[in-house]
Amino acid sequence: MLDRLIHEQLDRLHQLMADAPFAVLTGAGISTPSGIPDYRDNQGVRRGRQPMMYQEFLSAPESRRRYWARAMLGWPRVRLAQPNVAHDTLARLQGTRQISGLITQNVDTLHDQAGSHDVIELHGSLHRVLCLDCGRRSERDSIQRLMETQNPYLAGVDAVQAPDGDTLLDPAFEARFQVPNCPHCAGERMKPDVVFFGENVAQATAAKAMVTVERAAGLLVLGSSLMAYSAFRLCQAVVDQGKPLIAINLGKTRADEMLDLKIEGACEQFLPLLAQRLNH
Ligand SMILES: [Zn+2]
Repeated sequence: MLDRLIHEQLDRLHQLMADAPFAVLTGAGISTPSGIPDYRDNQGVRRGRQPMMYQEFLSAPESRRRYWARAMLGWPRVRLAQPNVAHDTLARLQGTRQISGLITQNVDTLHDQAGSHDVIELHGSLHRVLCLDCGRRSERDSIQRLMETQNPYLAGVDAVQAPDGDTLLDPAFEARFQVPNCPHCAGERMKPDVVFFGENVAQATAAKAMVTVERAAGLLVLGSSLMAYSAFRLCQAVVDQGKPLIAINLGKTRADEMLDLKIEGACEQFLPLLAQRLNH
């Protein structure tokens, strides 16, 4: 038996979304049940250590060495992550055109893996690597094999998983690390094809997300605290157009004051229930 509050919230959610398709914006909260760590707690405050800033990554070879050494050990967990029922439900809703577009802040490609199409990845994807020298991209898996071949001493090293999911590695191991070179131009500055902290979202991607939101009947935010401005501005646009803004998120969001409906709940619990109602 669902309790009464959940019933009331679902009624309201259904009422807002029943007429025309919404765009959906997802954040880390939708992927935590798949084992992908969240950077922020339920007050929207960053937890764990500070992630590497873009300037730091760019400016020093030691920073890139530290980044890639840790990334090599952390990759298997990201690669093996599976979509959960929330990703699956969104893929179905997109298939039946009950949502009009899907924008994500996540870099795990779990929406694609669940069968969604034309996903707008605001922050890029960890599954690709970009060369800053020649601008070409490589598959992360092929770069992973390159790193494993060049750093056999790290095979079997038991990296300590920090509580926030980051990898802690002995500095002595980092110092020996051989950074991968670009398979196309042999350049030394390869970065995961993701937007770092301190880096801007690509203009074309930001524009595409804005158009998707402007054409939708409203915006449903799932599992995001909306602390990143690139996501928050989409909410502002929806409100400016006088369209409904809804969030399902465990904890505070930056748009709490602007929301027409806020459900403090888990996406993997609410989305299947919402889908049921929409299909009745
Ligand atoms: Zn290159």
